[in-house]
Amino acid sequence: MSIITPREYQIHGTNQLVRYISKGYKRLVFQMPTGSGKTVTFAYFLQRYFAAYPDQQAKVIVHRDRLKVQSEKTFRNFDIKNVGVFMVETFVNRLKTGMFKNTQLIIIDECHWGSMRKIFEYFPDAIIIGFTATPIAATKKHPLKADYEQIVVCTDIRELIALHEIDPTQGLVPAKHYCPPSQINKKDIKRSGGDYNMRSMSNELCRTKLVDGVLKAYVDIGEHQKTIVFNSLVDHSLKVNDCFVAAGYNSRHLDGTMSKIEQDEIFQWFSETPDAILQTVDMATTGFDEPSIINVIPNRLTLSLPLWLQMAGRGARPYPGKAHFNLIDPVGNVEQHGRWDHKHDWYSLFHYPAKAGKGVAPMKVCPNPKCGCMIYMSSTKCEYCGHLFPRDTVYTDMVVELQLVPDNLIIPRNSPITLEKTIMSIAETVKSKPIDLFEKRNVMEYAVRKLHQQSGLNISSNMAVHLASRHI
Ligand SMILES: [Zn+2]
Repeated sequence: MSIITPREYQIHGTNQLVRYISKGYKRLVFQMPTGSGKTVTFAYFLQRYFAAYPDQQAKVIVHRDRLKVQSEKTFRNFDIKNVGVFMVETFVNRLKTGMFKNTQLIIIDECHWGSMRKIFEYFPDAIIIGFTATPIAATKKHPLKADYEQIVVCTDIRELIALHEIDPTQGLVPAKHYCPPSQINKKDIKRSGGDYNMRSMSNELCRTKLVDGVLKAYVDIGEHQKTIVFNSLVDHSLKVNDCFVAAGYNSRHLDGTMSKIEQDEIFQWFSETPDAILQTVDMATTGFDEPSIINVIPNRLTLSLPLWLQMAGRGARPYPGKAHFNLIDPVGNVEQHGRWDHKHDWYSLFHYPAKAGKGVAPMKVCPNPKCGCMIYMSSTKCEYCGHLFPRDTVYTDMVVELQLVPDNLIIPRNSPITLEKTIMSIAETVKSKPIDLFEKRNVMEYAVRKLHQQSGLNISSNMAVHLASRHI
């Protein structure tokens, strides 16, 4: 007997999954954001699967003990029997014994980590479904597309925020993004293994000015509210913690080298203390979930979109009285990856993984001193405080935004002089080099439209695209 009713998007996503399976697909990625009800979706899918194939056996492989317990409980509620839930290590160890031979369906959680890649050869005929919030493989060399045939995109962060507006106990809480000015020197941070080198990053972030900057951001934006800070390495985290403690704030450090008892005690303190500040390193990015968090401060850089979304989303769980959470970005991750609630085109990113990481929507700061949130550059009105932007700002912003369009286009020197002049004046307005603007197709389109407007002609976007392309 099922006692949990799946949400509409969960039903919709599952329908799509079932459709692909009935078409013969065997390797599928199922994308759903953190906080959209993974275990219920597992259960709902399994229930339907076993209704069609009552004699088959399924396995669910998870990376966290908490999710294992939660999944098993949910499966009991749904009265789902032919399924075993395993931690990755246990499953891999038992694989060799051959005890899983009779398995027709396997669900892998956090499939983008790629830690379960070896099971594909063990189960050539089984249906394998990989769940993830961020269908981008940890290594560019081995995209998810190499193991999986198709992707189901179940829902996105914005849909979950909309759900929260209807039912405050459900969905995700929206974020106010803040990017306080920072003196970080990214250029000097070394890179290794596809991301920033942690030692090198930590050395930079330990600079007193930057540590003080984090404290200042906290005080300015979310003082006395429950805060989690993700630092780079333990020494960095301890240094930031010392800074907060010295300023009289209720801050503690936590890392994975501490004993389980010590960690549990800190988690409990964090959960029960309204003004608690938790300074931590990597571990907590996946390890726990505290819905009362108001401030999230990812105080480390990353080139990984999955990691950014995982850190940022820590404040999004619904909690009584929480209308939003503050996403405070003192190091420039928003600039790198865009807003946490940005709508990513996971379908394309799965099928064309080389595109991953491109096309971040540019942002600006709301000039209202009481607000100061990060909003999209193209916004004419602040979505948080209602601040209106004067028209000529919009004009400038629009061009700045256009500069970030893919720039693999070259403009020949013999472009008409009038268009050149237009570009020159745009360049002057936005304080950019004209040569840079000439290489942006959308800036060209904009210039074409501007030209036509000046001569009293209104042209459609399509026509502007067409005309611009003739000059590129
Ligand atoms: Zn505002």
